Amino acid sequence: MEAIKAPRGTRDILGGESWKWARVMDVAASAADDFGFREVMLPIFEHTELFSRGIGDTTDVVEKEMYTFTDRGGRSVTLRPELTASVMRAYREHDMRRGPQPVKLWGRGPMFRYERPQKGRYRQFAQIDFETLGAPGPMADVEIIDLSMEIYRRLGLSNLQVVLNSVGCPKCRPVYREALKKYFASGFDSLCETCKSRFDRNPLRMLDCKNDECRKLTENAPAVTDSLCGECGAHFRAVTRGLENLGADIRLDNRLVRGLDYYTKTAYEILSGDLGAQNAVCGGGRYDNLAESIGGPSVPGVGFASGIERIVITMEAQGAYMGREPAPRVYVVTSGQGAENEALSLAHDLRSRGVSADLDFMGRSMKSQMKIASQAGAKFVCILGEDEISSGTVAVKNMSDGTQETSPRAAALEKLERIASRKEESK
Ligand code: AMP
Repeated sequence: MEAIKAPRGTRDILGGESWKWARVMDVAASAADDFGFREVMLPIFEHTELFSRGIGDTTDVVEKEMYTFTDRGGRSVTLRPELTASVMRAYREHDMRRGPQPVKLWGRGPMFRYERPQKGRYRQFAQIDFETLGAPGPMADVEIIDLSMEIYRRLGLSNLQVVLNSVGCPKCRPVYREALKKYFASGFDSLCETCKSRFDRNPLRMLDCKNDECRKLTENAPAVTDSLCGECGAHFRAVTRGLENLGADIRLDNRLVRGLDYYTKTAYEILSGDLGAQNAVCGGGRYDNLAESIGGPSVPGVGFASGIERIVITMEAQGAYMGREPAPRVYVVTSGQGAENEALSLAHDLRSRGVSADLDFMGRSMKSQMKIASQAGAKFVCILGEDEISSGTVAVKNMSDGTQETSPRAAALEKLERIASRKEESK
């Protein structure tokens, strides 16, 4: 029988890598704290309608990429392809409008999209996601963009570019759609099949087509910023000024439209020069009409999501500090019959004092245990030979300078707690 493998587009994050992810999550969590965002943990699956109505029926995500199935109760449910719609649903379901506004929430976890897998693009991927709900003004957008940049700054990322645009609102977007259709009509025959199908349904998406012919044509397409209504234009200028005021280096790009329909006004991405074709580490913007499209009163919102896989790939490519690979501070080495009990008891006492410790369960020779201790990166080795056990002592070897000292068990424990505990490590 053929061995079962992980499904295409998924990845096992193993012990050699998971600590890098933990660092990204820790940095995101501390930035969330500093910016006043509270973490929420929402369902991995939702009613399909939440996404089809929220993200938009004509988007790639809803048309082609959702993991949708009928559950045993006959309901159509979907593995979440993103978090924004769920956060908005939760805000409304728990009547968060009643409390002080804005409500700043963040979440993390796996998302699912049936995409063509390639480097930096998976069918299951993890995101951190931040949303500010209830604030209509441009400074909330500036804060969100600043927060995303601050997370990357803390992670030590460089070579990033913030790309900013406005996609208007239901008042000015129809004007722009018409201007675009008028422009593309003359070159319609040279467009790719996807763009031809977008021409009527979603002409804005033609602007981010990757096909060479289409790209050439979009170069002289009318700019969305020329069609913005007074309110959207003022909002866009305020966001740009606010970012400049914070010293952010931004690039305005009229072709940035994003793949999800719910965006209004601000749309932005942060691109990495070290990611290849899938170069966006982060995408976000304002979505003042999402709440209404999933049913209910209007709630303004702005947010961003960033893919953890892409952050880790970028950090690796740039040689950024990824945290420390976990290693036991102490390895307990034993020899002789019945010594395993003593070794486990010593490891137990070390661990209860906050000193990470490991030991051998495989009955290996002392020499092999020493080798394993060194491979594991242990800073100290506690040797429990027959002599030590009978005299109630422990020989402690310092692996960095090779010195060794034998002392009574209690004294050895005390010393290791002083020099090798977690408290000590974080200094
Ligand atoms: P989006 O929800 O499409 O705006 O994407 C936000 C961010 O999530 C992107 O900038 C990527 O960092 C990440 N992302 C989106 N789709 C994928 C995917 N299929 N695989 C890995 N990361 C993804």
